[in-house]
Amino acid sequence: MLYERSSRLFAEAEKVIPGGVNSPVRAFRAVGGTPIFVKEAKGAYLYDEDGNRLIDYINSWGPMILGHAYEPVVNAVIERAKKGTSFGMPTALETEIAELAVSMVPNIDKIRFVNSGTEACMSAIRLARGFTGRDKIIKFAGCYHGHSDSFLIQAGSGAVTFGTPNSPGVTKGTAQDTLLAQYNDLQNVTDLFNANKGEIAAIIIEPVAGNMGCIPPVDGFLEGLRQLCDAHGTLLIFDEVMTGFRLAKGGAQELFNIKADIVAFGKVIGGGLPVGAFAARNEIMNYLAPIGPVYQAGTLSGNPLAMAAGLEMLKTLNSDADIYTRLDAKTAYLETGIRQKLDETDLVYTINRTGSMISVHFDASPVTDFKSAAKGDNETFKKFFHGLLAEGIYIAPSAYETWFITDALTYDDLDETIAAIGRVSKTL
Ligand code: PMP
Repeated sequence: MLYERSSRLFAEAEKVIPGGVNSPVRAFRAVGGTPIFVKEAKGAYLYDEDGNRLIDYINSWGPMILGHAYEPVVNAVIERAKKGTSFGMPTALETEIAELAVSMVPNIDKIRFVNSGTEACMSAIRLARGFTGRDKIIKFAGCYHGHSDSFLIQAGSGAVTFGTPNSPGVTKGTAQDTLLAQYNDLQNVTDLFNANKGEIAAIIIEPVAGNMGCIPPVDGFLEGLRQLCDAHGTLLIFDEVMTGFRLAKGGAQELFNIKADIVAFGKVIGGGLPVGAFAARNEIMNYLAPIGPVYQAGTLSGNPLAMAAGLEMLKTLNSDADIYTRLDAKTAYLETGIRQKLDETDLVYTINRTGSMISVHFDASPVTDFKSAAKGDNETFKKFFHGLLAEGIYIAPSAYETWFITDALTYDDLDETIAAIGRVSKTL
């Protein structure tokens, strides 16, 4: 495959955009080589500037759960745009999507829309701090909750890819209010509660971690966090930016039957437009301005184009009774296929999967937390990535990311992918 135009476009971009990209992981630093410049996308496929067709397993890092350019979403955006693109005034559309979201997700009465997952998580912890009158939060090593200061403490995703887990620019004062725990380690969390009695406002967690590869919670872990939060008057925040509307209509809360106090959303809820949201029961949401003391706002929040896209996306997911079963079946099929191909080689590997989130780590031992995720063989991953790219298969350019399966992928696409994995893995 040729990447002539992508290389040229990247060189031009590097002159005017730091690293040539508007979000670090896109620059391919972890795997080397030239980032692919996309021209357009439809369904399961990306078409790049050099005319290559790629089967897409990133899907904008999660939002495109129905595939690219899903027609009802595209049409809704076009029709809305003709009527004006931003007002800074309420629209009926905002209530419509809020009602639908609240009906799909358990344990929430009210939802507020923002413009990104970062904003959703940032606002969720401010609300938790305001509500509890406490300052400290617990986050887990390797979990990523966006790039606001409190979360850039051993964050996953691009932050680990670049080996700068604690970013310069985050003050010591901020960092000391973020307590770090190991994912899937309940004793660790218990110890933090004992050492910080009456001080912890919230635990924030990806209920299925997706930013150190995919790491599901071990049995009893989320239940244990719920119990600890109840015992200590601490709020449990589920960051469902990845898992929301992906693992089930009601996200991880529904899948695992665990009640969160605040839920953060992003990705799927915006149908591919810049949307985030956070939600909770009335008692907590009524703490927000203008009815409560915790301030939070946004010029473009509830933007009509974004709301129109999100509404069509949620309507489709809500009305399709089989969608999550289909996504699970497709991803299970892919998992089985990858295992068969890797088993034909001497490679050691671990595959983790929950529903339509899946990742491959090149290490034999179970991957249950950041430390075990970091043991993966990155050199093998790099070759795996580039081998697949040459075969027209686009997976995330870092071993610390999850693959997102979409409903647009056919079994033929999956077979093509599995066959390519077979050929590539024999060369590693
Ligand atoms: N939380 C999680 C779990 C995420 O995966 C991400 C982004 N990958 C974010 C928060 C931040 O969302 P955004 O990039 O939209 O700010």
